[in-house]
Amino acid sequence: MPRTWLEVSLDRIALNYRMIQRTVGPSVQLMPVVKADAYRHGATAVSQTLEREGAQWFAVSNLEEGKALRESGIRARILVMAERVDTDPGAWREFRLTPVIHDLREIPLLDPATPYHLKIDSGMGRLGTNATIDSILAAVRNTRLEGLMTHFASSANFQSNQLHEQHERFEQVRLAFETAGLRPAYLHEASTNPLHFGNQETWRNLARPGYAIYGFVSRAKGKPAGELLDVAPALSWKASILLTKEVAAGTPIGYGAQYVAVSAMRIGILGVGYADGLPHRLGNRGSVIAGGKMAPILGAVSMDVTTIDLTAAPQLKAGDSVTLLGEEQGTAIDARQMAREAGTIAYSILCGISTRAPRIYV
Ligand SMILES: *Cc1c(COP(=O)(O)O)cnc(C)c1O
Repeated sequence: MPRTWLEVSLDRIALNYRMIQRTVGPSVQLMPVVKADAYRHGATAVSQTLEREGAQWFAVSNLEEGKALRESGIRARILVMAERVDTDPGAWREFRLTPVIHDLREIPLLDPATPYHLKIDSGMGRLGTNATIDSILAAVRNTRLEGLMTHFASSANFQSNQLHEQHERFEQVRLAFETAGLRPAYLHEASTNPLHFGNQETWRNLARPGYAIYGFVSRAKGKPAGELLDVAPALSWKASILLTKEVAAGTPIGYGAQYVAVSAMRIGILGVGYADGLPHRLGNRGSVIAGGKMAPILGAVSMDVTTIDLTAAPQLKAGDSVTLLGEEQGTAIDARQMAREAGTIAYSILCGISTRAPRIYV
């Protein structure tokens, strides 16, 4: 048995995809976002599963991810969202990958036969062009512009007007395109949040959910129009107990003696640490599920091992496993909870799980 491993339910991923598709209806195509190895769920297996569910587009971050997906046999279109066209000018055509262009000066560098999507910086101040509408129109004329997209900075914050302002800015660009006789085949704005929170004006004819595919939605600030997606996590994270022992009151535990046993207790040493992606910040804060019960992390999380309190699960012994993320006998911890305890976000927890933890599909 490995020291630590992931169990991923591809059935759950398929159910989440169907849930999202049912919610947006047949006029909106979904482009599942499988960057960062599908948030560590495995880009190949997730994409193969969703291709069988009917997905005709996938989104990745960079050329390496796009090439790997194509080489794994995915036939659907693949949009590469955060790369420069001139990184590897021949790869777009060779691997049938579709670039997102962020800078009008990239357009002439692209093989004219390759369709591309143009990203508008509608107010996030990150990727995408913030050129004037006139210069955009001049640059895209007589090119294979296939899609116009943008991305929102504050899509879970309904006390802010930023999503609305960004959408309005995008709509201005679209209208100017229409006036100029240009109608890109795809318009896309929404990631998970605007789908979940019912911002239908942003759904257009293509949407880019990542988080919800993996079973997560954000918590809204303020009052959203709706909360539409009923999705569930597909990934469990397990670790083996390497050693159990009884320690006396006053025993220091781990680096820096950051925990000292207050009474005689039974502890378990797990074969998982921050090198596997368990946040160091969980030292003396987080818990795992041991024998269906919450078992607190004692002292510092080390590189390869972590100590837990086994008081609530005295039956567990070396070779048994515990759950870091997932469910045991009705007790659950998901990446959002772990993130709260670690002072980070669930996206970072998921992507941060090291490739040292092998994946099993269940
Ligand atoms: C990562 C990403 C997404 C997916 O966002 P989720 O919140 O995971 O749904 C969509 N669009 C862009 C541009 C992204 O970078």
